[in-house]
Amino acid sequence: MYQNTLEYAQQCDAQDPLKHFRAQFYFPKDDQGNPLIYLCGNSLGLQPKKTSQFIQEELDDWAKLGVEGHTEAKHPWLPYHEFLTQSMANIVGAKPSEVVIMNGLTANLHLMMVSFYQPTAKRNKIIIESDAFPSDKYAVESQIKFHGYDPKESLILWKPKKGEELCRYEDLEAIMNEQGDEVALIMIGTTNYYSGQSFDIKKITQLGHHHGAIVGFDLAHGAGNILPNLHENGPDFAVWCSYKYLNSGPGSLGGVFVHERHANNPNLNRFAGWWGHNKQTRFNMRHEFDVLPGAEGWQLSNPPILSMAAIRASLSIFEEAGMDNLREKAIKLTGYLEFLLDEMKDDRIQVITPRNPEERGSQLSIQVKSANKELHTKLTKAGVVSDWREPDVIRVAPTALYNSFEDVFHFVERLKQVLN
Ligand SMILES: *Cc1c(COP(=O)(O)O)cnc(C)c1O
Repeated sequence: MYQNTLEYAQQCDAQDPLKHFRAQFYFPKDDQGNPLIYLCGNSLGLQPKKTSQFIQEELDDWAKLGVEGHTEAKHPWLPYHEFLTQSMANIVGAKPSEVVIMNGLTANLHLMMVSFYQPTAKRNKIIIESDAFPSDKYAVESQIKFHGYDPKESLILWKPKKGEELCRYEDLEAIMNEQGDEVALIMIGTTNYYSGQSFDIKKITQLGHHHGAIVGFDLAHGAGNILPNLHENGPDFAVWCSYKYLNSGPGSLGGVFVHERHANNPNLNRFAGWWGHNKQTRFNMRHEFDVLPGAEGWQLSNPPILSMAAIRASLSIFEEAGMDNLREKAIKLTGYLEFLLDEMKDDRIQVITPRNPEERGSQLSIQVKSANKELHTKLTKAGVVSDWREPDVIRVAPTALYNSFEDVFHFVERLKQVLN
């Protein structure tokens, strides 16, 4: 159904119901002022044009009101995080009480493990996918050590079969059948940052729960990309960041999901702070810690409003576009990229991301035989912003909000030029 012509790509763009969102973003430009082909939204999403206005509003209220802004700002700072909750819950498929925005991703992962990794002599193992994002691996290893166990024994890697790039569910099942009663936690990154593989959240959750393990997901590459449907699929917790597909600015705050079955669980350990305390009595200061129900109860500090303003700007765009519509376009757009790469009929390149749209998000990871980083440098010179992962993989992610079919077409044309 796809065609390998510029006219066809332009026709797809003309018919794209989400096409007007592209104009709401700033695109980086080359020295001559031509917009670059930006396919790096999986790493750092582009800046929405409305973001500065949202931040400026808070700066103005701070200048005008000082401390009174906590209650008197147009969007008062005390409950500011609440303005983000509903839209963020829509994006990850959760109930608002299950979602909170706070801290950075890795900090949140630690907080979740404080609560959900409570190892015993019998059950102290954690499973992660073998190509997990380094920060996740460091976090998990350090938690294991913190509890006095040895990662060599307690950290299990779910690996692809020899000679393969992708993890197979059956191998995770085999690990659980063999040692499931020793596994405390399954913690999987989906979509995987390297291969672009999305895992079946529901299946993995059911498998873990069947064996009595807690199941958590890192959605750094999932939020704003796939439809994780967290409430229905039922994992115990999830964490993500807002600066990749969620376009909320470098280092912006992360999100946390805690399933409602844990909303009032008094048996969970947790590290507490005043922002997790009952809102009515928070400022009386002299009360015992009275934890808020739901995900909000994990908050520690009063949050950085300027970052939250950027998130609010971005979420308003997601709200308008609708996550289902974005996903529908993403499937077509990434499918088009795959089609054009197939059309190259070049033996040197192989897409390692799954071909099934259900098993991937927007990203395709393109392995280039005997290539090195020079290829990436040439692509950059040719006006493409992509991402290189050693030893030989280019990651490209056409995002539904601001990339076009024409972007995808031109990318593949430039890849051909650079390869020849
Ligand atoms: C991007 C990413 C991170 C980054 O963690 P920060 O704490 O936000 O710096 C962690 N894990 C995964 C899977 C990621 O993709």
